Amino acid sequence: MEFHIITIFPHIFDSYINESILKRAQKQKLISIKTHTPRQFASDKHRTVDDRPYGGGPGMILMFEPIYKTIKNIPKKKKRKIIMLDPSGEQFTQQKAEEYSRLNQLILLAGRYEGFDARLEEVVDEKISIGPYVLSGGELPALVVVEAVSRLLPGVLGDEESIKDETFSQSLDYIEYPQYTRPEKVKHKGKVLQVPPILLSGNHAEIEKWRKRQSKLRKRKLG
Ligand code: SAM
Repeated sequence: MEFHIITIFPHIFDSYINESILKRAQKQKLISIKTHTPRQFASDKHRTVDDRPYGGGPGMILMFEPIYKTIKNIPKKKKRKIIMLDPSGEQFTQQKAEEYSRLNQLILLAGRYEGFDARLEEVVDEKISIGPYVLSGGELPALVVVEAVSRLLPGVLGDEESIKDETFSQSLDYIEYPQYTRPEKVKHKGKVLQVPPILLSGNHAEIEKWRKRQSKLRKRKLG
């Protein structure tokens, strides 16, 4: 799976994509992550990619042409989607991540300033928001999408079992059961917090039942 991120701050990605799971997945050629800066297609000597909005107003807008040319410069693969990251877009969900994981190529437009020239909406397939809040740029949202999609691809996590029981994995309202590790007892505010004895019993059928119950309880608590 190819990820292409169009950004004016490509170095933001360096550290995150070169650690842990994403690093390993690239090394194993399960994914590739490339950043592209629209400045390469700016038409002036200052490499300008933003300008003031028509009609007035605060801030700067990312220009149509440098971004359009950057998209066109990426060799097209079958089963590709072009996504504009935008706080007003459709909410990104686990279901969306699963849908994207069936593609071969994902182009992510990470905005800055006041966002994109609205005519780019004609060029993209979808506008996606990672949540109802405004960040200063689309770099973190792009990383969120890259990570959520990558970990669903065969071989990326190493242990395929770990995806099966995860929150949202079985349905969008599925919540994972609580998990514990050593030691059996810890202290907090004078209280002893103990691992539920059933998990120490070795009775796998009962453990399974307990986990199902806990998962439902957590779901009910969330309303
Ligand atoms: N003026 C825009 C508005 O009012 O909707 C906000 C622009 S924001 C400061 C700059 C860029 O950050 C956006 O173009 C987008 O790429 C990205 N961004 C900010 N919040 C986001 C979110 N919740 N989801 C996805 N992208 C976001």
